[in-house]
Parts: sequence; structure tokens; C-alpha cells
Amino acid sequence: MSYPSEPFINGRYTSSATGQPTNLINPATEEVFASVSSVQAKDVDEAIEGADRAFRQSWRDIPPGRRAEILFNIAKILRANVESIAQLESRCVGKPIADARDEVALGARVFEFYAGAVSKFGGQTLPVSRGGFDFTLRQPMGVVAAIVPWNFPFPIACWKVAPALAAGNTVVLKPASISPLSALLLGQLSVEAGLPAGVLQVLPGSGREIGNQLVLHPMVRKISFTGSTEVGRGIMELAARGLKRVSLELGGKSPNIVFADADIEQAATNSPMSVFGNTGQDCCARSRVLVERKVMDCFVEKFIAATKKLIIGDPASEATQIGPLVSAGQRAVVEDFMASARSQKRSIVSGGQRWGSKGYFFEPTIILEPEITDRVWREEIFGPVVCIRAFDDESEMIEEVNDSPYGLSGSIWTHDIRRALRVARRVESGVLSINSHSSVHVEAPFGGFKQSGLGRDLGMAAMEGYTELKNIYIAD
Ligand code: NAP
Ligand code: MG
Repeated sequence: MSYPSEPFINGRYTSSATGQPTNLINPATEEVFASVSSVQAKDVDEAIEGADRAFRQSWRDIPPGRRAEILFNIAKILRANVESIAQLESRCVGKPIADARDEVALGARVFEFYAGAVSKFGGQTLPVSRGGFDFTLRQPMGVVAAIVPWNFPFPIACWKVAPALAAGNTVVLKPASISPLSALLLGQLSVEAGLPAGVLQVLPGSGREIGNQLVLHPMVRKISFTGSTEVGRGIMELAARGLKRVSLELGGKSPNIVFADADIEQAATNSPMSVFGNTGQDCCARSRVLVERKVMDCFVEKFIAATKKLIIGDPASEATQIGPLVSAGQRAVVEDFMASARSQKRSIVSGGQRWGSKGYFFEPTIILEPEITDRVWREEIFGPVVCIRAFDDESEMIEEVNDSPYGLSGSIWTHDIRRALRVARRVESGVLSINSHSSVHVEAPFGGFKQSGLGRDLGMAAMEGYTELKNIYIAD
């Protein structure tokens, strides 16, 4: 299998990058399987200047119909390459191959949606009081810097790049250091699909080294970030200097609320994958389960049984549901949380240990009834660890749910529609699902309340976020 190994700048892989190569480690085997040249300051400048030129000289003035056609072509070429992109992704981050294929297909669907959105997105005419004629335009901003993480590298790259391009911007995409391959392929395949050179630049490199430059460069008009709350906060602080637009999709500690009248069988058997899927490295992971006390024992028993059936193992195997954590560092983070739970003598009723003899595997782990002040209850673990607590009273439970700096996602299980809607209105989070764990829909806005972020990915809301709103008045 061949791997892209150079930054993608001005329409081609460039061998002139000045940074050090970064070795990529397969987290299932702990072996180096590829190496990618990282960019340094000079390459970042070249890429941003190229993206600014591409914006002014071609992309912003290309007729919308042609822009849509190119985005459709990108979707088509992604669909033709699902297998090769999925294989790269699976090796890079240890993602089960079946999930990797679904995620590439999701990326293609995102391009299809925004290709269609180009012709359905515009301004308004407004009946202003002084008469005359008034209308608004949605105009592109210029160069957008998209900084993306390693947990869903391909779909998250697509759901920033596609709406930004659809709205007429050019994009400088920085993948996470440990997962640059699928982003590099996206750059190459986009050009093959007809995207003019420079409209999408892909810069593998260290966030710590080039992040500030991406945020502060005067030609970058907006930063769209997904990752940790800590880095997001730093980006927002820096962006304030140039009053840059930002959208931030950050961490979560999402609740999974189970009422006694719910279909307990369905809730309990569906819930393990809502937190252990992607080995828990999911900002939407339902890592705090709150169960009405009457059904606590029954729910926990079924939840444990369903967890024990999950297939852990080689990400390349079709049947695998749970792969390794992405890195030794991420496993160390999880083990640190487990050490704190053990030191407090918490009840660990399933898992809690490394799995297998090689690879960064960790067993799906269930902790019962931690205190609400515990780190494992309050902080994002980003690993396969769930906490389950019983509740008695609906209002107190909602207070407990909202007692968190985060507010990204969540689920509510009940057959009482009035209760479902009452609780959904009061839970402080950007995305909720009722009798389901589905959080991400290409057509619907995705993002967080509170410290889970700012702005929205996906849906038409994302496209608005990549435009400036201009008002034009014409006198009679
Ligand atoms: P992170 O540092 O926030 O990384 C996300 C992206 O930001 C990567 O591309 C990273 O590049 C880049 N970055 C890092 N420092 C930067 C800086 N100073 N300026 C600009 N960009 C910068 O996340 P992480 O360290 O990989 O993971 C830490 C924790 O963050 C996880 O345990 C989890 O809790 C959370 N997280 C959340 C999400 C999410 O989906 N919301 C995703 C990933 C992680 P490098 O890869 O080169 O550092
Ligand atoms: Mg980091």
C-alpha cells in the first residue's frame, strides 16, 4: 500500500517542505508504518498565500453551478476510493475497518449535501422603512484555516472543508499530527475532481509549532477547530487579536438518561456502543449514564451483558467493533483516570485493564455509582470508560446533568413524549436524541453549549458560519 508522504500545497504534493518527518505508528501493532514530512513556518506562509491567491483569482468568482459540479465530482471520486481511504485511516488511528468505510462514505455524503446547498443558499430582500430596495448577500470570507483532530479524521475534515468551499472560501486544512494521511488524500483527490490548485491546501505538522501562525496570519479570516477545550480556548484568545471569526467544536461529557418506562432492553443493548464506539474517543460519547432507580439493577445487568459481547481486536478484521486507543499517550490518560477511580475505591464492574499483548487496547470499562465530584464523572476521559448512577427525581437529575462545563450531546430514553420534550428543553446541550444515540446528521446543525464550543458544523448553519452577511440598499 502506498501512502502520501508530503504536504499538499498549490495543487501537488510538495517535496520542498522544510520540517522533520513524522513517523506514523499503527496503534494496533505499535509499529511504524509510514512517515510524513511536516511543514514549518515557510511552508505555512506559502500555503496561506497560495490559498489567498486562489480565492481572489479563481474560486470566489467561479459560477455557483460550476462550484457545485466540482463538489459533486469530489463526492464521486471519494466514493470510488472508499476502500483505499478507509484502509489508510484504519491503520493510522486503529479504527475498525467497517467503521472507517462508513466514515469515508459519510465524508462523500457531506460533499454531496453542500454541492446541493450551493444553489439553495442566498440572501433576503427586506422591506426597509424608508422605501427603496434592500437585500442581503452571503459572501465568502477568504482563507479559512480548518484544524481537525484524530478521532474522526476524515469526516471532520470533510464537514469543515465542504461547506467552506461551497460558500466560496479557500481552505488551509491542518490534520492532527498522528492522522494526516486521509486529509492528504482528500487534497489530491479534490484536484483530480477539478478543484483549482490552491483552493484546498493540506498541511501536516505540529499544532504546537504552526497553530499560532495559522490563527494569526492576516490572510486567514476564520479558524474552524475541532479538538480539546484547552486548545480551543487558546485559539479563541489569539483570534481575538485580529477579531478573527472562530468556530470551535470541543469536548463533552454527554448524559444518557434512562427513565423507568423506557424500553430497557433496547436502551441497555444500544448504549454500550454509544460510549465505547471509536474506543470512547468521541466527543459525543454518552459517558455519564443516569438511570431511574427502579430499573437500575435490570439496566446495569443488561448493559454489562451487552458490553461483554462487544468484539475487541484487530481493526483490519471485518467483525471488530472496538479497536485500540489511538496512542500510548491516550492510553496513559485513560489509565490515569482509572487509577483515580481505584484510589477512591469505586466499583468497577467490568473491564478496567489493558487488553491483549500488543497495541494500545483497553477493555470497555464500567464504573458504578461514582460521586458527582469524581474526576471520572466530571472530566472527559476520551477512552472506553462509562459511569452509571441512579436517580430518583427528574428535576434533581437534570440539575446533575447540567452541573458540567460541557454541553455537547445526550440521549433520553422514555415512552412519555411530554417528559421527553420537557427534559430535552432543559438539558443544556447542543444536540440531543430521544430513544436513539444518533447525534450527527449531515443536514442538521452539530455543536455545543457552554465549553463544548461555539458555532455549528453541518447543516445550513455551517454554511452560514463560513460567510459574511452584507446588506445592500438601493434608493428608489
Ligand atoms: P488537541 O491538542 O486539541 O488537537 C486537535 C487539533 O489541534 C490537532 O490538529 C492538533 O495538532 C491541533 N493543535 C494542538 N495544539 C494546537 C495549538 N496550540 N494551536 C492550534 N492547533 C493546535 O487534542 P489532543 O491533544 O489530540 O487530545 C487531547 C484531548 O482533547 C482528548 O483526550 C480529548 O479529551 C479532546 N479531544 C476532543 C476532540 C473532539 O472531537 N472534540 C477531538 C480530539 C481530542 P497536533 O496533532 O499536531 O497536536
Ligand atoms: Mg494536544
